[in-house]
Amino acid sequence: MTPNELRVAILGVKRWIRGDERAPNKPLMMAYAIAKYIQGHGQMFSYEDEVDRDVHLLLKRFGPSRKAYHPEYPFWRLFNDGIWRLDNAEECIPRSSNTDAKKSELIKHQVTGGFSDEIYELLQNDTQLAIELLETILSESFPESIVPEITAQLGLEFTFKQVQKRDPNFRREVLNAYNGKCAICGFDARINDDLFALEAAHIKWKQFNGPCGVNNGLALCVIHHKALDKGVIGFNSDFDLILSSSLNGGEMVERFFFEYSGKKLILPRQSKYYPSVSFLEWHNREVFKK
Ligand SMILES: [Zn+2]
Repeated sequence: MTPNELRVAILGVKRWIRGDERAPNKPLMMAYAIAKYIQGHGQMFSYEDEVDRDVHLLLKRFGPSRKAYHPEYPFWRLFNDGIWRLDNAEECIPRSSNTDAKKSELIKHQVTGGFSDEIYELLQNDTQLAIELLETILSESFPESIVPEITAQLGLEFTFKQVQKRDPNFRREVLNAYNGKCAICGFDARINDDLFALEAAHIKWKQFNGPCGVNNGLALCVIHHKALDKGVIGFNSDFDLILSSSLNGGEMVERFFFEYSGKKLILPRQSKYYPSVSFLEWHNREVFKK
């Protein structure tokens, strides 16, 4: 296998995404393994001692809100993508509904998993390639405000180049529509005439085909932008701000967040620029942490 064939194989896995529903299981499982290789981990990971805890935490922190998290799914299913090796898997009894092994079976048989022999060898001999693939996997699945948090959680200290395709007009159009103010708190600091710490946020992520149009944008200060991408805040169809029940903190959190709970967005003057309810609904379903 050549590095290029490996890139193609990894991107092939990514296309497993179901419509616009976030399915970060496989990307996070692959990112976890590659990050650990960069740090010198051996080829195989123990389901019981490593993946069940570490990937569960990644899914909980960075995946959509779900009743339960299943690190066993990507651990098992990447094998079918032809890039993954499983050891001690032969005797695992599958679920009745599909061919996946139950988590209890993975633990009982001490199953280990990791990238296939040839992929492991490639990644081990070429750290730059590993870093590049890690960046590809994460930037295809998460907005750029979240990627550094994931790499930090994975124990890595570098940041990526973040070369991403973006629509150069998006930022300007969104900030103009919102009159250069944060749509939540009205923050509008300028140095001379230049806005700073005010950003154009995507409501529906680009990674899930969210368009670069004003109806999918919000002008937000950096704090509220981060909170939107983390699912700490969301909006109902009347544009009222809703807060995640998991949010807590002291006086500044009170001022930045709780004081705006239930308050309406500061909307653009022109209704044609209002956020589309369908994008707000996507955000509520796939990002907002209830
Ligand atoms: Zn703000």
